[in-house]
Amino acid sequence: MNNGRISDIDWQEVIMSKVLRIINMLRLDRLLFSRTSTYPFTYFFKGFENVEVVRQIFGRETKEVLSNLKVEFIWTGGYMGVNPFNGHLMVNPRYLNNGNRLDIYLDLIHELVHVRQFMEGKELFDTSYSYVERPTEIEAYRCAVEEAKRMGQTDARICEYLKADWMCDSDLKRLAKVLSVKC
Ligand SMILES: [Zn+2]
Repeated sequence: MNNGRISDIDWQEVIMSKVLRIINMLRLDRLLFSRTSTYPFTYFFKGFENVEVVRQIFGRETKEVLSNLKVEFIWTGGYMGVNPFNGHLMVNPRYLNNGNRLDIYLDLIHELVHVRQFMEGKELFDTSYSYVERPTEIEAYRCAVEEAKRMGQTDARICEYLKADWMCDSDLKRLAKVLSVKC
């Protein structure tokens, strides 16, 4: 297929629009009254089993893994993560409602890598490494950054994505260098 790349980008747009539409449907006020609930991943995020990068993460088990994945809402702050005790995807609904949709999409890719690492029995929070040097983080960031590049995002935009509240400038530079992103 000679138009594969363009089709892929269009498809990502469709996925992101869907993610966004689903998020908009998510009534925050209603969720505020159901603090402890978990939801199926596929309830909020549809079509991810068809995304090439997600299929690369989970291989043949993509559909099964996603249909078994649970989402927990976190209300204390933060953006997204994986619960190190049960492998659930933890999401702050305020981030889903207000965050930049490309950031949300790339974060989902990042966290899905952690979901696979959890399934493999890897230690997600190995404190013998700093955050930006932890192999599980580098693998997750690499996957998200490769997806961003494949979508045609510039280094400047990817660098902006990598810039997290909790990361100092030298950490950002170190991470960007490992990922071959000019920051
Ligand atoms: Zn991570």
